[in-house]
Amino acid sequence: MPSTTPDSAPAAPAPVHRREDLDPRRTSRDRSWPPAPQPLPSPVIDNHCHLDFADGEDHLSVEEHVARARQVGVDAMITIGSDLESVRWTADLLASSARPDSLRGGVAIHPNEAALHARGHGHDGEPMIPLEEALAEVDVLVRGPGMVVVGESGLDWFRTSRKDEQARQAQIDAFRFHIALAKETGLPLQIHDRDAHADVLEILDADGAPERTVLHCFSGDVEFARACVERGFFLSFAGTVTFKNAQNLRDALADVGLDRVMVETDAPFLTPVPYRGRPNSSYLVPLTMATIAEVTGTDLERACRAVRERTLEVYGWPEA
Ligand SMILES: [Zn+2]
Repeated sequence: MPSTTPDSAPAAPAPVHRREDLDPRRTSRDRSWPPAPQPLPSPVIDNHCHLDFADGEDHLSVEEHVARARQVGVDAMITIGSDLESVRWTADLLASSARPDSLRGGVAIHPNEAALHARGHGHDGEPMIPLEEALAEVDVLVRGPGMVVVGESGLDWFRTSRKDEQARQAQIDAFRFHIALAKETGLPLQIHDRDAHADVLEILDADGAPERTVLHCFSGDVEFARACVERGFFLSFAGTVTFKNAQNLRDALADVGLDRVMVETDAPFLTPVPYRGRPNSSYLVPLTMATIAEVTGTDLERACRAVRERTLEVYGWPEA
Protein backbone atom coordinates (compact mmCIF):
# COMPACT_ATOMS: atom_id res chain seq x y z
CA MET A 1 0.00 0.00 0.00
CA PRO A 2 1.42 3.40 -0.87
CA SER A 3 1.76 5.57 2.22
CA THR A 4 0.87 8.84 0.53
CA THR A 5 -1.25 11.27 2.57
CA PRO A 6 -4.59 9.41 2.52
CA ASP A 7 -6.33 12.17 4.47
CA SER A 8 -5.41 15.08 2.23
CA ALA A 9 -7.99 16.58 -0.11
CA PRO A 10 -7.90 15.28 -3.69
CA ALA A 11 -5.93 17.44 -6.10
CA ALA A 12 -7.67 19.24 -8.95
CA PRO A 13 -7.07 17.66 -12.38
CA ALA A 14 -4.05 18.86 -14.35
CA PRO A 15 -4.79 21.23 -17.27
CA VAL A 16 -5.66 19.64 -20.62
CA HIS A 17 -4.06 22.26 -22.86
CA ARG A 18 -0.62 23.81 -23.00
CA ARG A 19 -0.33 27.32 -24.31
CA GLU A 20 2.93 26.60 -26.10
CA ASP A 21 1.06 24.13 -28.32
CA LEU A 22 -1.03 27.03 -29.67
CA ASP A 23 1.52 29.83 -29.54
CA PRO A 24 3.61 30.26 -32.70
CA ARG A 25 6.55 31.28 -30.48
CA ARG A 26 6.35 27.90 -28.74
CA THR A 27 8.77 27.97 -25.83
CA SER A 28 10.88 30.85 -27.16
CA ARG A 29 8.86 33.62 -25.45
CA ASP A 30 9.56 34.70 -21.88
CA ARG A 31 7.55 32.16 -19.91
CA SER A 32 8.62 33.26 -16.45
CA TRP A 33 5.81 34.20 -14.06
CA PRO A 34 5.54 37.96 -13.42
CA PRO A 35 5.99 39.07 -9.80
CA ALA A 36 2.84 39.56 -7.70
CA PRO A 37 1.55 43.14 -7.74
CA GLN A 38 0.51 45.12 -4.64
CA PRO A 39 -2.63 43.60 -3.07
CA LEU A 40 -5.92 45.34 -3.85
CA PRO A 41 -7.50 47.46 -1.10
CA SER A 42 -10.81 45.62 -1.56
CA PRO A 43 -11.38 42.20 -3.14
CA VAL A 44 -12.55 41.55 -6.71
CA ILE A 45 -13.41 38.49 -8.81
CA ASP A 46 -11.73 37.39 -12.02
CA ASN A 47 -14.88 36.60 -14.01
CA HIS A 48 -13.16 34.90 -16.95
CA CYS A 49 -10.03 32.74 -16.99
CA HIS A 50 -9.01 29.39 -18.47
CA LEU A 51 -7.59 27.11 -15.80
CA ASP A 52 -7.71 24.27 -18.33
CA PHE A 53 -4.65 25.90 -20.00
CA ALA A 54 -1.17 25.42 -18.61
CA ASP A 55 1.40 28.11 -19.26
CA GLY A 56 4.74 29.23 -17.86
CA GLU A 57 8.10 27.58 -17.38
CA ASP A 58 6.61 25.97 -14.25
CA HIS A 59 2.97 25.04 -14.66
CA LEU A 60 0.80 26.19 -11.77
CA SER A 61 -1.87 23.89 -10.38
CA VAL A 62 -5.46 25.07 -9.95
CA GLU A 63 -4.77 25.36 -6.22
CA GLU A 64 -1.69 27.52 -6.85
CA HIS A 65 -3.60 29.90 -9.16
CA VAL A 66 -6.30 30.27 -6.52
CA ALA A 67 -3.83 30.79 -3.66
CA ARG A 68 -1.74 33.37 -5.53
CA ALA A 69 -4.87 35.29 -6.51
CA ARG A 70 -6.17 35.34 -2.97
CA GLN A 71 -2.92 36.86 -1.71
CA VAL A 72 -3.49 39.99 -3.81
CA GLY A 73 -7.21 40.35 -3.13
CA VAL A 74 -8.63 38.39 -6.07
CA ASP A 75 -10.70 36.15 -3.88
CA ALA A 76 -12.77 34.27 -6.43
CA MET A 77 -12.64 33.29 -10.08
CA ILE A 78 -14.71 31.85 -12.90
CA THR A 79 -13.00 29.34 -15.20
CA ILE A 80 -14.29 28.89 -18.73
CA GLY A 81 -14.14 25.69 -20.78
CA SER A 82 -14.48 26.58 -24.44
CA ASP A 83 -13.70 23.49 -26.49
CA LEU A 84 -15.18 20.05 -25.96
CA GLU A 85 -12.17 18.70 -24.08
CA SER A 86 -12.12 21.76 -21.82
CA VAL A 87 -15.88 21.67 -21.38
CA ARG A 88 -15.53 18.15 -19.97
CA TRP A 89 -12.49 19.09 -17.88
CA THR A 90 -14.25 22.11 -16.40
CA ALA A 91 -17.39 20.11 -15.59
CA ASP A 92 -15.27 17.41 -13.90
CA LEU A 93 -13.32 19.94 -11.86
CA LEU A 94 -16.43 21.80 -10.72
CA ALA A 95 -18.19 18.57 -9.77
CA SER A 96 -15.21 17.18 -7.86
CA SER A 97 -14.49 17.63 -4.18
CA ALA A 98 -11.19 19.21 -5.29
CA ARG A 99 -13.01 22.34 -6.45
CA PRO A 100 -11.86 25.28 -4.32
CA ASP A 101 -14.75 27.16 -2.65
CA SER A 102 -13.74 30.31 -4.48
CA LEU A 103 -14.04 28.76 -7.93
CA ARG A 104 -17.02 28.50 -10.27
CA GLY A 105 -17.21 28.04 -14.03
CA GLY A 106 -18.95 28.09 -17.34
CA VAL A 107 -18.88 26.13 -20.58
CA ALA A 108 -19.72 26.60 -24.25
CA ILE A 109 -18.37 25.74 -27.68
CA HIS A 110 -16.26 28.73 -28.73
CA PRO A 111 -17.15 30.17 -32.18
CA ASN A 112 -13.86 29.02 -33.72
CA GLU A 113 -14.43 25.54 -32.30
CA ALA A 114 -17.97 25.54 -33.68
CA ALA A 115 -16.50 26.11 -37.13
CA LEU A 116 -14.13 23.14 -36.68
CA HIS A 117 -16.94 20.84 -35.53
CA ALA A 118 -18.92 21.81 -38.62
CA ARG A 119 -15.91 21.05 -40.84
CA GLY A 120 -15.47 17.72 -39.08
CA HIS A 121 -11.79 17.93 -38.19
CA GLY A 122 -9.44 20.03 -36.06
CA HIS A 123 -6.29 21.94 -37.05
CA ASP A 124 -4.29 18.74 -36.56
CA GLY A 125 -6.62 16.80 -38.89
CA GLU A 126 -8.12 14.83 -35.99
CA PRO A 127 -11.81 14.06 -36.55
CA MET A 128 -14.30 16.07 -34.50
CA ILE A 129 -17.87 15.15 -33.63
CA PRO A 130 -20.70 17.05 -35.35
CA LEU A 131 -21.53 20.48 -33.91
CA GLU A 132 -25.01 19.40 -32.77
CA GLU A 133 -23.49 16.61 -30.66
CA ALA A 134 -20.95 18.94 -29.08
CA LEU A 135 -23.68 21.44 -28.25
CA ALA A 136 -25.84 18.67 -26.79
CA GLU A 137 -23.01 17.85 -24.40
CA VAL A 138 -22.74 21.50 -23.32
CA ASP A 139 -26.50 21.49 -22.78
CA VAL A 140 -26.10 18.70 -20.22
CA LEU A 141 -22.87 19.75 -18.53
CA VAL A 142 -23.73 23.44 -18.04
CA ARG A 143 -26.50 22.30 -15.69
CA GLY A 144 -23.96 20.56 -13.44
CA PRO A 145 -22.58 21.68 -10.08
CA GLY A 146 -20.58 24.90 -9.86
CA MET A 147 -21.70 26.30 -13.22
CA VAL A 148 -22.62 29.98 -13.11
CA VAL A 149 -22.48 31.03 -16.76
CA VAL A 150 -22.92 29.93 -20.37
CA GLY A 151 -19.84 30.98 -22.30
CA GLU A 152 -17.93 31.87 -24.13
CA SER A 153 -19.98 32.07 -27.30
CA GLY A 154 -20.42 34.64 -30.03
CA LEU A 155 -18.75 35.46 -33.34
CA ASP A 156 -15.08 35.58 -34.34
CA TRP A 157 -14.41 37.04 -37.78
CA PHE A 158 -10.72 37.37 -36.98
CA ARG A 159 -9.56 33.78 -36.66
CA THR A 160 -12.36 32.27 -38.76
CA SER A 161 -13.31 34.14 -41.90
CA ARG A 162 -16.90 35.21 -42.29
CA LYS A 163 -16.43 34.57 -45.99
CA ASP A 164 -16.21 30.84 -45.27
CA GLU A 165 -19.92 30.12 -45.53
CA GLN A 166 -19.84 26.87 -43.55
CA ALA A 167 -17.76 28.40 -40.74
CA ARG A 168 -19.92 31.51 -40.62
CA GLN A 169 -23.12 29.51 -40.37
CA ALA A 170 -21.66 27.21 -37.69
CA GLN A 171 -20.71 30.21 -35.56
CA ILE A 172 -24.15 31.74 -35.94
CA ASP A 173 -25.89 28.44 -35.15
CA ALA A 174 -23.75 27.88 -32.06
CA PHE A 175 -24.25 31.47 -30.88
CA ARG A 176 -28.02 31.20 -31.19
CA PHE A 177 -27.97 27.86 -29.41
CA HIS A 178 -26.07 29.35 -26.46
CA ILE A 179 -28.35 32.41 -26.31
CA ALA A 180 -31.33 30.07 -26.02
CA LEU A 181 -29.51 27.89 -23.49
CA ALA A 182 -28.71 30.87 -21.25
CA LYS A 183 -32.33 31.93 -21.32
CA GLU A 184 -33.60 28.42 -20.65
CA THR A 185 -31.24 27.82 -17.71
CA GLY A 186 -31.50 31.37 -16.38
CA LEU A 187 -27.71 31.69 -16.46
CA PRO A 188 -25.84 34.74 -17.74
CA LEU A 189 -24.13 34.57 -21.14
CA GLN A 190 -20.49 35.53 -21.77
CA ILE A 191 -19.95 36.73 -25.31
CA HIS A 192 -16.82 36.35 -27.39
CA ASP A 193 -16.85 39.12 -30.00
CA ARG A 194 -13.86 39.54 -32.25
CA ASP A 195 -14.23 41.91 -35.19
CA ALA A 196 -17.95 41.18 -35.15
CA HIS A 197 -19.62 43.95 -33.10
CA ALA A 198 -22.48 44.72 -35.50
CA ASP A 199 -23.31 41.08 -36.21
CA VAL A 200 -23.23 40.19 -32.51
CA LEU A 201 -25.73 42.96 -31.74
CA GLU A 202 -27.92 42.02 -34.67
CA ILE A 203 -28.26 38.42 -33.50
CA LEU A 204 -28.83 39.39 -29.86
CA ASP A 205 -31.48 41.89 -30.92
CA ALA A 206 -33.18 39.37 -33.19
CA ASP A 207 -33.24 36.50 -30.70
CA GLY A 208 -33.58 38.57 -27.54
CA ALA A 209 -30.52 38.73 -25.29
CA PRO A 210 -30.42 36.84 -21.99
CA GLU A 211 -31.25 39.03 -19.02
CA ARG A 212 -27.58 39.11 -18.00
CA THR A 213 -25.30 39.41 -21.02
CA VAL A 214 -21.57 40.03 -20.65
CA LEU A 215 -19.21 41.22 -23.37
CA HIS A 216 -16.16 39.26 -22.26
CA CYS A 217 -12.81 40.90 -23.05
CA PHE A 218 -14.62 43.97 -24.30
CA SER A 219 -12.95 45.08 -27.53
CA GLY A 220 -15.12 47.89 -28.90
CA ASP A 221 -15.03 51.64 -29.12
CA VAL A 222 -17.19 54.32 -27.47
CA GLU A 223 -20.06 53.84 -29.88
CA PHE A 224 -20.20 50.07 -29.38
CA ALA A 225 -19.85 50.42 -25.59
CA ARG A 226 -22.84 52.77 -25.59
CA ALA A 227 -24.85 50.36 -27.75
CA CYS A 228 -24.13 47.58 -25.24
CA VAL A 229 -24.93 49.65 -22.16
CA GLU A 230 -28.18 50.87 -23.74
CA ARG A 231 -29.21 47.24 -24.03
CA GLY A 232 -28.35 46.58 -20.38
CA PHE A 233 -25.27 44.47 -21.19
CA PHE A 234 -22.21 44.28 -18.97
CA LEU A 235 -18.66 44.97 -20.14
CA SER A 236 -15.79 42.89 -18.82
CA PHE A 237 -12.33 44.39 -19.29
CA ALA A 238 -9.20 42.24 -19.62
CA GLY A 239 -5.49 43.12 -19.69
CA THR A 240 -6.00 44.55 -23.17
CA VAL A 241 -7.27 47.77 -21.56
CA THR A 242 -3.70 48.34 -20.30
CA PHE A 243 -2.10 47.91 -23.74
CA LYS A 244 -0.44 50.99 -25.25
CA ASN A 245 -2.27 50.62 -28.55
CA ALA A 246 -5.70 50.25 -26.89
CA GLN A 247 -6.70 53.87 -26.41
CA ASN A 248 -10.09 53.05 -27.98
CA LEU A 249 -10.83 50.68 -25.06
CA ARG A 250 -9.86 53.29 -22.47
CA ASP A 251 -11.99 55.87 -24.27
CA ALA A 252 -14.93 53.45 -24.23
CA LEU A 253 -14.45 52.73 -20.52
CA ALA A 254 -14.10 56.40 -19.66
CA ASP A 255 -17.27 57.15 -21.59
CA VAL A 256 -19.55 54.51 -20.05
CA GLY A 257 -18.04 54.70 -16.55
CA LEU A 258 -18.00 51.97 -13.93
CA ASP A 259 -21.71 51.20 -13.72
CA ARG A 260 -21.70 48.04 -15.82
CA VAL A 261 -18.04 47.07 -15.69
CA MET A 262 -16.30 43.91 -14.50
CA VAL A 263 -12.69 42.70 -14.62
CA GLU A 264 -11.13 39.50 -15.96
CA THR A 265 -7.80 38.05 -17.06
CA ASP A 266 -8.69 35.67 -19.91
CA ALA A 267 -5.59 33.94 -18.48
CA PRO A 268 -3.26 32.55 -19.62
CA PHE A 269 -3.70 35.08 -22.45
CA LEU A 270 -3.66 38.90 -22.58
CA THR A 271 -1.24 39.55 -19.72
CA PRO A 272 -1.47 43.20 -18.66
CA VAL A 273 1.29 45.78 -19.12
CA PRO A 274 4.17 45.72 -18.15
CA TYR A 275 4.26 41.92 -18.50
CA ARG A 276 2.63 41.58 -21.91
CA GLY A 277 3.54 38.26 -23.56
CA ARG A 278 4.41 36.48 -20.32
CA PRO A 279 2.04 33.95 -18.68
CA ASN A 280 -1.11 35.37 -17.14
CA SER A 281 -3.02 34.30 -14.04
CA SER A 282 -5.74 35.78 -11.83
CA TYR A 283 -3.12 37.19 -9.45
CA LEU A 284 -2.32 39.84 -12.09
CA VAL A 285 -5.83 41.35 -11.98
CA PRO A 286 -4.61 44.24 -9.78
CA LEU A 287 -2.69 45.64 -12.76
CA THR A 288 -5.86 45.80 -14.84
CA MET A 289 -7.88 47.14 -11.90
CA ALA A 290 -5.39 49.99 -11.53
CA THR A 291 -6.03 51.01 -15.15
CA ILE A 292 -9.81 50.69 -14.72
CA ALA A 293 -9.67 52.97 -11.67
CA GLU A 294 -7.41 55.48 -13.37
CA VAL A 295 -9.40 55.66 -16.61
CA THR A 296 -12.70 56.11 -14.79
CA GLY A 297 -11.20 58.66 -12.40
CA THR A 298 -12.17 56.51 -9.42
CA ASP A 299 -10.10 55.71 -6.38
CA LEU A 300 -8.94 52.11 -6.48
CA GLU A 301 -10.91 50.93 -3.48
CA ARG A 302 -14.17 52.35 -4.82
CA ALA A 303 -13.48 50.88 -8.24
CA CYS A 304 -12.91 47.44 -6.69
CA ARG A 305 -16.17 47.67 -4.75
CA ALA A 306 -18.12 48.67 -7.85
CA VAL A 307 -16.63 45.84 -9.92
CA ARG A 308 -17.32 43.30 -7.20
CA GLU A 309 -20.93 44.43 -6.80
CA ARG A 310 -21.46 44.12 -10.53
CA THR A 311 -19.98 40.62 -10.54
CA LEU A 312 -22.31 39.57 -7.74
CA GLU A 313 -25.28 41.06 -9.61
CA VAL A 314 -24.40 39.16 -12.80
CA TYR A 315 -23.49 35.74 -11.38
CA GLY A 316 -25.35 35.75 -8.10
CA TRP A 317 -22.02 34.75 -6.58
CA PRO A 318 -20.02 35.06 -4.43
CA GLU A 319 -22.27 36.35 -1.68
CA ALA A 320 -21.16 39.58 -0.03
ZN1 LIG B 1 -11.55 33.38 -22.94
